[in-house]
Amino acid sequence: MYDVAVLGAGFAGVVAARDLSIAGHSVVLCEARDRIGGRTYTGKAFGRSVEFGGAYAHWTQPHVWRELRRYGIGLSAPLEAEQTYWLADGAVHSGTAAEYAGIAGPLTDRYVADARARFPQPSDLAAAGTSAIEKETLGDRLDSLHLSAYDRDVLDGMLAPLVHRYDEQGVAQFLLWAATTFGDWGAFLETAGTWPIGGGTKRLLDAIAGESEAELRLSTPVTAVEDDGTGVVVTTRGNGRVRARHAVVALPLNVLSDVTVTPPVAQPVRTLIEERHPMKTSKIWARVKGEIEPFAAGAPVGKHPVNAARTEYRHDGDTLVMCMCSDASALDRADREAVQRALRTFAPGLEVVGTAWHDWATDPFSQGTWAHHRPGNLTRAVPRMREPHGRIRFAGGDIAAIGVGGIDGAIETGAQAARDIARTPAEEV
Ligand SMILES: Cc1cc2nc3c(=O)[nH]c(=O)nc-3n(C[C@H](O)[C@H](O)[C@H](O)COP(=O)(O)OP(=O)(O)OC[C@H]3O[C@@H](n4cnc5c(N)ncnc54)[C@H](O)[C@@H]3O)c2cc1C
Repeated sequence: MYDVAVLGAGFAGVVAARDLSIAGHSVVLCEARDRIGGRTYTGKAFGRSVEFGGAYAHWTQPHVWRELRRYGIGLSAPLEAEQTYWLADGAVHSGTAAEYAGIAGPLTDRYVADARARFPQPSDLAAAGTSAIEKETLGDRLDSLHLSAYDRDVLDGMLAPLVHRYDEQGVAQFLLWAATTFGDWGAFLETAGTWPIGGGTKRLLDAIAGESEAELRLSTPVTAVEDDGTGVVVTTRGNGRVRARHAVVALPLNVLSDVTVTPPVAQPVRTLIEERHPMKTSKIWARVKGEIEPFAAGAPVGKHPVNAARTEYRHDGDTLVMCMCSDASALDRADREAVQRALRTFAPGLEVVGTAWHDWATDPFSQGTWAHHRPGNLTRAVPRMREPHGRIRFAGGDIAAIGVGGIDGAIETGAQAARDIARTPAEEV
């Protein structure tokens, strides 16, 4: 009998387990994979470490920044892109980063113009007037601007790294994200996708796990969690049983329909779990021969297999280019020449000598990349899911408030679940 069973050892679970265990609770942390970190994964490729999943953080993200400070870890400086290429209206255009920002910035300003009005206080969704935007998809918003073909492609290419399906992702999440950076989409992009955690996400995870006193059980997939009124019973694959007083379910939203939760969750959380979030994008690393001129590139969804590319590191005389693809099936990641062909659209003559990736969409323990909620869910089902479900609390970046979809949100919810359980009145323990 443990005080708390934490299910899932991504950032949310690892933080919850650390906070509860060092506060004196007995904690078991059950993780399906043979490693911690979940959708962050510092793996090996090309003879060095690379981030296959979540990588970037920022000093304006309070929860992750606090963790970084706690362990004396910083952020790495990105390679500064000298040239930007963008595919629009059937042609590739180029300019400096400032020139591109001068063209794309006014378009993203229009796209998220109502962000601060909709979310005047991003931390308080009750203050948000969201009924109209919660019916709107990213695609509806794009159509509503009635842009020229060129402007539409420029805007689409700017949004594309965060888009899998324009017709399934709600605009509310983009507006909430933009509101956290004062309505400035460029600032949001810088905070969300520019500065890698120094030494990799694994370094931060290992530091958190190293301070934790929780018992870690790797390769232990959970199949069920039941609140029987006196405690929780967690069933693991192969019919193992773990008993605890409370459970923190820090699993990805898209795997929750594989886990039986008893008593069943209420509507609208049930629908949220059944519908899943739609994100099945892909992140590919391409090793390019030589120290090529640093560049960034963008292309609209459905018009090019690579929707964002950026030179990120120098490595042994070569350059590593990070590519984001809205549709994983549009590019064979193992086909070096196909990736080279795609990148040559932007930077003719570059030579791809190797590729590396992790397939998050088919991985049974993620079944998708980061969460982007369907219209109607972000401000209704998601906050409902953050409420306690008896002795069970859900946590994770997928259901975070401000940092939804990211590492910061994962940490926030893990820490919050730990605080809530620690504060549980003695008579309920
Ligand atoms: C390609 C990609 C790029 C991204 N880029 C960024 C970025 O740059 N910055 C950023 O902030 N965010 C980024 N994200 C999002 C970020 O990685 C996630 O939001 C965050 O890591 C989620 O943490 P979590 O703890 O909520 O979930 P997860 O990390 O998914 O952890 C959940 C854990 O549960 C485990 N699990 C699953 N099923 C079971 C089961 N049945 N039993 C037991 N354990 C189970 C999983 O193995 C996993 O370890 C990115 C994600 C991807 C995929």
